[in-house]
Amino acid sequence: MQGKITGMACVDSTDAERAYRAQICHIGRQMYHRGLVVACEGNLSVRLNSDRMLITPAGMCKGTLAPEQLLITDFDGNVVEGNGKPSSEIRMHLLYYRLRPDVRAVCHAHPPIATAFAACGRALEERLLPEVVMSLGRVPLAPYGTPGIAELCAGLQPLVPDHDAVLLENHGVVTCGRNLEKAYFHLETVERFAEILSTAELLGKPRLLTQREIQKLCHAQPCPGREATPRRWAAETWVKFEALLRTALRLSDVRQ
Ligand SMILES: [Zn+2]
Repeated sequence: MQGKITGMACVDSTDAERAYRAQICHIGRQMYHRGLVVACEGNLSVRLNSDRMLITPAGMCKGTLAPEQLLITDFDGNVVEGNGKPSSEIRMHLLYYRLRPDVRAVCHAHPPIATAFAACGRALEERLLPEVVMSLGRVPLAPYGTPGIAELCAGLQPLVPDHDAVLLENHGVVTCGRNLEKAYFHLETVERFAEILSTAELLGKPRLLTQREIQKLCHAQPCPGREATPRRWAAETWVKFEALLRTALRLSDVRQ
């Protein structure tokens, strides 16, 4: 592999790859110890360059992964370095890298509370917490597709361009980011949001943020370190979404 220029320093891509391997293992351990995955669930990947990605192997516990167990594949899913088979969800990772040039990392897990929402056919779209509105917007639900085959991606594909986090019906959560840490933080945020929403609903009727409060958030200065771009899910998106939600609820009432 060739070295690349980053800022003033020439960084050998072997060093970068080594760092990515270590980071995947570190975040895999965090996912496992936080209970976002158990046993051999979940998978992580990082885009290495225009035609290679680093991905976790199938059938390995994310809590005990070693850097040398990770695999390098091309963007057709063929293993080009390492032993073993890549994660059975590799198509999902390839989908993100194909549709989102801005995405450098993908995380997939089965966090229990967010997955419970997905199992009940509920997206996480309540405008409840300013931090979630600002960081993720709404978290839609992709219709069920059998894991490990192309069908899983069919329902996910339309949601990939506009969402950094998606619930997978009866399955789990997938998140992406401009780096692995960001993708992992999105995963944590989704699970925490699901936890707070379900607790709030047990306690009573959560107060949702008003349109005016959402608009103020959209115009607020970002905190230091946060992306300064106006988010895709600006106020107009919420208005449009709520109209769709009302229609869906009416349809659901009719079916019942
Ligand atoms: Zn899964």
